[in-house]
Amino acid sequence: MGLHDREGIGMTSRRTRDRLVTRLRDAGISHPRVLSAIANTPRHLFVDEALASRAYEDASLPIGHQQTISQPYIVALMSQALLDGNSKHSRVLEIGTGCGYQTMVLSQLVNLVYSVERIGALHQQARDRLYDLKIRNAYFKHGDGFEGWQEQGPFSGILITAAPERVPDSLYHQLSVGGVMILPEGEKRLQRLITITRTASGFQRHEGACVNFVPMLSGVI
Ligand code: SAH
Repeated sequence: MGLHDREGIGMTSRRTRDRLVTRLRDAGISHPRVLSAIANTPRHLFVDEALASRAYEDASLPIGHQQTISQPYIVALMSQALLDGNSKHSRVLEIGTGCGYQTMVLSQLVNLVYSVERIGALHQQARDRLYDLKIRNAYFKHGDGFEGWQEQGPFSGILITAAPERVPDSLYHQLSVGGVMILPEGEKRLQRLITITRTASGFQRHEGACVNFVPMLSGVI
């Protein structure tokens, strides 16, 4: 068995993964479905082979194109916020596919995931990777997340994994009533995790923890 097999060996083994789950639980992640989705997701297959031995550290890591794979704690925190907002999500829009790690975690928690990425090379790699991992309820688009994915909306959940300076207007309209949008908002190093809930009469906004994401940029490359 090589380092790139699904189960992994040594620093990528089931035991190493379980240690990450224990650490997330200690850090306050309590939702059992979120913890088991993290335990079931082979993060070592989402990073470069040279970084695979560090894949189960609770840290963000480079994935090329000046982008990163998110820190597992943040992936868990956002996934938990999504489920707290609504425990039975039908359609979830993810902006910022990156390597597809959060996409695979979400695919285990909701019915359908629609994921948009602006960098063509990352989009293709993630789409192929999730296909190889037998994920069949996630759909991918190479596009600008500022436009969302109108044809597939409205969504019961929207999760943005890059930081816009303010919540994009177009995305409010793609959220269904009762739906919840979670995103980092703000400038470099000064972002807060925001939860927007759409009610019958409008939108409610809640500001959470300080976070540090790569910026959300417009246009595709
Ligand atoms: N979800 C990823 C984290 C990706 S990092 C994970 O699981 O690790 C953020 C990603 O957002 C990058 O790949 C970046 O290219 C992408 N991004 C930034 N602005 C975007 C936009 N306007 N539309 C779509 N993707 C965008």
